[in-house]
Amino acid sequence: MIIALDGPVAVGKSTVGQRLAQKLGYCFFDTGTMYRALTWKALQLSMDLRDESRLADIAETTKMDLVPSEKDPSRLVMMVDGQRLEREIYLPEVEAAVSLVSRIAAVRKVMVELQRQLADRSNIVMAGRDIGTVVLPDANVKIYLTASPKERAGRRHRELLERGQAANLQEIEENLRRRDEMDTNRKVSPLKPASDARIVDTEGIGVDEVVDRICAMVKSC
Ligand code: C5P
Repeated sequence: MIIALDGPVAVGKSTVGQRLAQKLGYCFFDTGTMYRALTWKALQLSMDLRDESRLADIAETTKMDLVPSEKDPSRLVMMVDGQRLEREIYLPEVEAAVSLVSRIAAVRKVMVELQRQLADRSNIVMAGRDIGTVVLPDANVKIYLTASPKERAGRRHRELLERGQAANLQEIEENLRRRDEMDTNRKVSPLKPASDARIVDTEGIGVDEVVDRICAMVKSC
């Protein structure tokens, strides 16, 4: 059983996907962590992020594995060249650069291959931008989450404050709109709902209700 969960920045794919997977007893994997991990490595190497062929080489030669998180073993995290990456991939510099890396076709080819291998192994909820359209077009259920940029920025803002991190609401919204625009307008695998996806508008709705709605869709299929 495969559930594809797509949607824009900060719409709640990870939180919803994780809870949904727990409820159903499936694995959860957030494919954004792969693009973030490669971006982190490129920044460590001080690479020019417009050098597409070098980035493609790095994608092909980097050893990427998925292992259970130390904090929460139900979550899979990235190991890059033997190093476990958890918090690093959420640094602002990674966030600002990731959409430049993810638009490269040769990079996506490597990632998609790994994502398909993972989906072959178990029942899974897989979150991303192109899961229902490109990675797993035969997924049993395809969900596309939406919410306005204002709502999404507000959620991300609250989340950062709760973690004790500094956060500026306006900057968050600008950043989120910029990433959405790049992800939506790129040539390869742009962010968009699959033609057979069910759109779930999460505006003003709590996580539990969103998860319940999706669970009902899964059970009815
Ligand atoms: O979901 P998250 O914000 O972690 O994703 C980070 C970035 O990775 C996205 O902005 C997008 O550029 C890229 N991404 C992608 N395809 C996916 C998942 C993420 O292009 N399936």
